[in-house]
Amino acid sequence: MQEETISIFLIFSLFLVVIIITAAFHEFWIKGRLLLNPLKPNVPCDGISNIPIKVQFVDPFGKPRKQKRDRLVELRSSSGNIQNVVVPEGKETAIAVLRSSNICGLVSLKGRSGIQKAHARVNFIGNVEELVLEISPTKIPADGISISSVVIKVKDRKGNFITSQDEWIVEMSTTLGTITNPVKISPGTFSGIAILTSGKETGIATVRATLGTLHSEKDVVIEELPERYCMNCGDPLKRDLNTCPNCKKTQISDNEIKECNSCTSIIPANAMFCDRCGAKQPV
Ligand SMILES: [Zn+2]
Ligand SMILES: [Zn+2]
Repeated sequence: MQEETISIFLIFSLFLVVIIITAAFHEFWIKGRLLLNPLKPNVPCDGISNIPIKVQFVDPFGKPRKQKRDRLVELRSSSGNIQNVVVPEGKETAIAVLRSSNICGLVSLKGRSGIQKAHARVNFIGNVEELVLEISPTKIPADGISISSVVIKVKDRKGNFITSQDEWIVEMSTTLGTITNPVKISPGTFSGIAILTSGKETGIATVRATLGTLHSEKDVVIEELPERYCMNCGDPLKRDLNTCPNCKKTQISDNEIKECNSCTSIIPANAMFCDRCGAKQPV
């Protein structure tokens, strides 16, 4: 009984091996080996440039092999856009078109037809041309805590914003206050962000960004602290005074807070006037 099981198993295994060898013979000898051959190694990462890809079957010696029937070749790319192609009966080649994206960097291509696989690599090249800084707000008080956000973007020669498959590291500096440094623009994203924090010194903060050989600068005004008002009587009050010359009362501090009904600043809950805008608070 056991011998019988073993021989059935052996026959089955042999049968499987024959099928596999036949399939492999068919795939690699009759059909030929699948090859992807980009006709250009690179194009700009502009979202419109194309790379023609020669999709071909070749024999073990590298000679193109005509197909006995239509062969569908599924194509995938890590970036950009590509469609499947059919190598028609009687031909050995089809041309696929890879359209670039706005993501710059190496792109890997994969082709598949049955059990056959092929790889190729191309490059979407970024003509990095300009660093763009978007700063908001462009005026902050010199209180040592106010912040301004600095968004950094990269433009190509044609004025398109572009991104990279590698990380971009942008060096940041400022002539006043402090700024996040460096800023990383992650792969596939179009911007990075730095935070400028004011110091106690007033003046122009020149923010400078550097990426490789590119530089960009923009100014932020670090201005005098805004006027302040007495929380008891609403009279203007100098920054360094705690006792109001008008009502002779000291300024209020409280753990409880509320929002000013006029400018929405956060003020002590029992303030009668907002110290930021001077507005009388409802009782
Ligand atoms: Zn007062
Ligand atoms: Zn207010």
